[in-house]
Amino acid sequence: MALNSFLRVDPEYRDYIWGGDRLRPGHVPTAEAWVVWEGGRIKEGELSGKTLADVCAQYGEALLGRRAVSRTGMRFPLLVKLLDCAQWLSLQVHPNDEQAAVLEGPGQFGKTEAWHVLEAKPDAKLIAGLKPNTSADVLADSIRNGTITEHSQYAGVSAGDTVFMPAGTLHALGPGLLIYEVQQTSDWTYRVYDWGRPETETRRLHIEKSIQVTRADLSAPIIPAPAHGDGSQHTLVRCEYFTLELLSTVSKPIELDTNNETFHALTVIEGKVKLQSTAESMQLGKFETVLVPASLGSYKIEPVDGECQILKSSV
Ligand SMILES: [Zn+2]
Repeated sequence: MALNSFLRVDPEYRDYIWGGDRLRPGHVPTAEAWVVWEGGRIKEGELSGKTLADVCAQYGEALLGRRAVSRTGMRFPLLVKLLDCAQWLSLQVHPNDEQAAVLEGPGQFGKTEAWHVLEAKPDAKLIAGLKPNTSADVLADSIRNGTITEHSQYAGVSAGDTVFMPAGTLHALGPGLLIYEVQQTSDWTYRVYDWGRPETETRRLHIEKSIQVTRADLSAPIIPAPAHGDGSQHTLVRCEYFTLELLSTVSKPIELDTNNETFHALTVIEGKVKLQSTAESMQLGKFETVLVPASLGSYKIEPVDGECQILKSSV
């Protein structure tokens, strides 16, 4: 059974202590908006109220596409979030698929992720990996004694930058960043260091697991914003789990096709757009997201008021 309408998903918010005031004005702190994920509920239309997991169970490949099904079966494979960082997030690391299966149980997935910087205060920084030539022993000792930030690779970033972090890369986001994050659907995060914040039931450190999965030889390069133009499409990251692209246009429509291969998760990050398929059209404003089912086929993105930019995640 084909699915041929654009799916708006209700964002779900998380109020972690490091959050800010940009994602949900009036609710401070709001740290994360989960905009596409298996538990997200469809906002309108025939499938209104169902979660993406429900829609996967009912429609399978029509939603996900051939490529996603061949890789991860019927589970919705990606999680897309917006993060508003007013303080440092915990320094953390994720296992890969094999490590997740060993450390957490059969069938558990690891997590590879990518960040795209939406807004950055002038001195905003993040941590992506370790300084060159950090040995495995120094890594393990400094995780155990809480001095890991001395060996962490800090990087200044600005709006438009992208960072790709394979599982095993030590990472943290710093204050002043608004981030788009795409990642594998997985719950496994090991907290390496939490900047001296008290450990609580829900914010524990995971010292031994962190030592097992952090790669001393990994640091993630900052990928600078590509030059973009009228109707341009740039691949920012392509890996075995997802592809992240930046689409931008001023006046030309951008024509896309899901080809039954993959869904497209589209998030407008600048301007306003009109989406047009053979069956319907809809408008999307800044920071709004829509999921295009794999069976929808061809559609167009048209700018509404001049320049617009869209991030597209797919598998
Ligand atoms: Zn992470």
